Amino acid sequence: MKYTFEITVAGCNARCRHCYVSGGPGSSMPLSDYRACLEKLVPALTRLKGSVSIAPGHEPFNHEEAAALMRMTHALAPQFYPDAGYDWPTTGIALKSRRDRADIFALLHGFGAKRLMLTLHGLEECHNEIVRAPHGFEALCAFADLLHAEGFEVAFNLMLNHRMTEDWDAICQVLEANRCDAAYLTIPLYLPVARLRKYEPYRATYADCQRLRGRLDRFGIDEAQFFAKVEAFNAAAVRARALQKGWDYAAREREKPDWAFFHITEELEFYYGNAGMHTKRLGNIATMTSEEIYEAIRAQRANYDYSAYYDLKQLPPISAVLAANPPQENHVYPDAESCLYRWLDAMGVPTILLPGPGALAGA
Ligand code: SF4
Repeated sequence: MKYTFEITVAGCNARCRHCYVSGGPGSSMPLSDYRACLEKLVPALTRLKGSVSIAPGHEPFNHEEAAALMRMTHALAPQFYPDAGYDWPTTGIALKSRRDRADIFALLHGFGAKRLMLTLHGLEECHNEIVRAPHGFEALCAFADLLHAEGFEVAFNLMLNHRMTEDWDAICQVLEANRCDAAYLTIPLYLPVARLRKYEPYRATYADCQRLRGRLDRFGIDEAQFFAKVEAFNAAAVRARALQKGWDYAAREREKPDWAFFHITEELEFYYGNAGMHTKRLGNIATMTSEEIYEAIRAQRANYDYSAYYDLKQLPPISAVLAANPPQENHVYPDAESCLYRWLDAMGVPTILLPGPGALAGA
């Protein structure tokens, strides 16, 4: 089994429209609470069998005491912290303007970090509109410069949308101007939350993607891999396959990775489910013992897909899903499940997600 524990230590500078973890401005977790959290969590995590990682979120570089927080994580939980092969994701907005950034860069070098990853949504206007941060693009480019000057590589995660397919050549110029060391072209997931529902108008269609044929093999992007997804997971192809082969929800869930996600909020509330995707409250770390934390984790199953959002027994048969969702714009998804969730969501099929602020409420 694989386990991921996201601990929200600080809010985010952006409020991206495709964000399903409810990212946005928020309060920071006091350092003393973070220490208490790790002191209880680590004994429980070391007893788990499998691969375990801790991901401080949403934007740890926003924490007032980010350097102390990084040192603390490395001192108390080094075995669960990102290793040298990790592309540290950041908007760059927080770190760029910190007075102690030299200290943080030195720490990152000390941890073996080689590369930081910046997510780009398109040219300036489009990028700022999607991240909902007025100077997001400017900050990103300035931060890329700064990272190179500090001896880091810069990876760009290009979050696909239909405008990106129109502006591809100009976007490549942006990547060149910012000395992009590596790039990934990501098709955004669809999950049944309000933010992603509102993001759909940005989603690229199959026809949009055709503009990119023969133009992607740059910056390390694998064009064959990208188009294999486009061919397999456009809505029309998913529909055709569902009509031909049906859709056994439980069988498909069993094929998904054996991977469980948990989230600890700034108030040390402990949830089963990814940040913004809680399905069960397990307690509060402040009042739980390490033994109780361990038992609470052990009682949960993998929640990589399907049962992370839905009660499988309540899902309508695929014939009803297809009938309720006649062919429309042929949007492209990163997997068949994203397309299915879009259809279920359009039908108003209830999820098992706990109500809360952020992605669910569409903030
Ligand atoms: S996608 Fe990342 S940067 Fe954007 S709001 Fe969510 S957590 Fe913040």
